Amino acid sequence: MHHLKGRWRSKSTILKIAGFATAATMLATPVLAVHSWNNYHWKRTTTQISPPVGDNVTTAWDSYLSTAVSDWNRSSYIQSSLTAGQTTRSTCGPKAGRIEVCNYAYGQTGWLGIASIWLAADGHISQGTSKMNDTYYATAQYNTPAWRAAVMCQEIGHDYGLAHQDEDFNTDATNSCMEYTSWPSGNEHPDTHDYNQLATIYSHAHSSSNLPSSSAATPPALAIGNTMKDWGRVIGTDKQGHWNKFERDLGNGVKVITHVTWLPDMHVGHNH
Ligand SMILES: [Zn+2]
Ligand SMILES: [Zn+2]
Repeated sequence: MHHLKGRWRSKSTILKIAGFATAATMLATPVLAVHSWNNYHWKRTTTQISPPVGDNVTTAWDSYLSTAVSDWNRSSYIQSSLTAGQTTRSTCGPKAGRIEVCNYAYGQTGWLGIASIWLAADGHISQGTSKMNDTYYATAQYNTPAWRAAVMCQEIGHDYGLAHQDEDFNTDATNSCMEYTSWPSGNEHPDTHDYNQLATIYSHAHSSSNLPSSSAATPPALAIGNTMKDWGRVIGTDKQGHWNKFERDLGNGVKVITHVTWLPDMHVGHNH
């Protein structure tokens, strides 16, 4: 299914490129970047994007975090260092140009993990956060290596711009961590399709970065909260009909996209 979707998208992208090429020729203006509506990505100014990943996690999560960072670094377009965290676990506020990863007992929120990406006015990702909810990982049902690895991998994948390959919790359709499933064993890592998708969204380079040249520059201080009221309008639902993707408009063209991994058996966010 996702391969069909991938081909369809490629085809429409080719048509768009053809359209732009014609327009570009007529205007004698090079139009290089084609951005589909959900083509979230960081500006790539060199061979690879390299947002540092901030380790704000406790020891129970360290191995899952380092594995996820190494896994995503296997993409020829990503080379992130795993660095000391720069935020507070309980809020997990963003830092410009970085991906901050946190764990904390965020409470009975209904989700195992959430990932937020901030889109700058030009549409590119400027910073990201991933939060793992220890309230559920403290329970026997979710305190398993497979759940921890799959959710850690998926949330960081969102911070690089990826979406889900499959959104049906009642199936185990892929070997990718970018899938909703109730059987996370076998879905602890990215798969070839994820790397191919990254190659597509990072195929174009930019001449300049939208990120501050100095780490002293002040990023938006707002941390994204833990409930739907904090996430903005609904822009996606999973196969079970749960709202799973949100967009919050911060003004001046800045938006925050939040992906939610609900508990498979939860009906929070159900739209009927
Ligand atoms: Zn771009
Ligand atoms: Zn997700």
